[in-house]
Amino acid sequence: MEKREQLYEGKAKKVYATDQPERYIVEYKDDATAFNGLKKGTIQNKGVINNQVTNHLMTYLAGKGIPTHLLRELSERETLVKKVSIVPLEVIVRNIAAGSLAKRLGLAEGEKLRSVVLEYCYKDDALGDPLVNEYHIKALGLATEADLATIAAYALRINEYLSEYLRDLSIELIDFKLEFGKVADGSIVLADEISPDTCRFWDSVTGEKLDKDRFRQDLGNVEGAYQEIMRRLLGQS
Ligand code: UDP
Repeated sequence: MEKREQLYEGKAKKVYATDQPERYIVEYKDDATAFNGLKKGTIQNKGVINNQVTNHLMTYLAGKGIPTHLLRELSERETLVKKVSIVPLEVIVRNIAAGSLAKRLGLAEGEKLRSVVLEYCYKDDALGDPLVNEYHIKALGLATEADLATIAAYALRINEYLSEYLRDLSIELIDFKLEFGKVADGSIVLADEISPDTCRFWDSVTGEKLDKDRFRQDLGNVEGAYQEIMRRLLGQS
């Protein structure tokens, strides 16, 4: 597998072409941003951890029948993935009130929701990724109704699988963000990452935050939290 030109550089990852048109290489960086890019920093070793945590969780989900873009891990920071055309939505699943939901609806952080909440944000940095509903998605042509139904069903199943898996590691899955893409044959697959950057993970015994909120809220020991997630999931630090 030959790594060719860089196609894209995002806030946390770079994407490269390969010698095969339907395969890309993703490279995870240590750069961290929050609040739509307003806060910037570095989290030592984050790229290494997020690459391996994402691949670990995507492999687990694939075993449960969720199709993903993952092909194989190439190095500490690099993974070979299927080329996808990203559906321009951030799909957010919530079990417990936190972050923007708590703020918007006046809920206490940590309040249990009576049922799962599924939200969509339109991926557009200039607009600040605004919240949209099924009607906006259809009216703007962001996804077809059939594709959105597939995405919603996968997102809810992923929540069940991940919540159950993490519970055994004393990690409570508060909320998380997913992205989906379309592969060459038109089918929907899970793409992007599943990591402490994109999930809220709370220690189920102590309530300690083990995710990017430590960076967002200047709680300290950000690196330690990422390492602890890696240790619990992969049994190494
Ligand atoms: N999230 C993300 N990328 C974003 C926005 C949110 O990965 O651009 C994740 C975030 O880490 C959390 C969940 O989605 O696990 C819900 O985030 P929320 O809407 O509460 O926004 P935040 O408080 O992160 O700004």
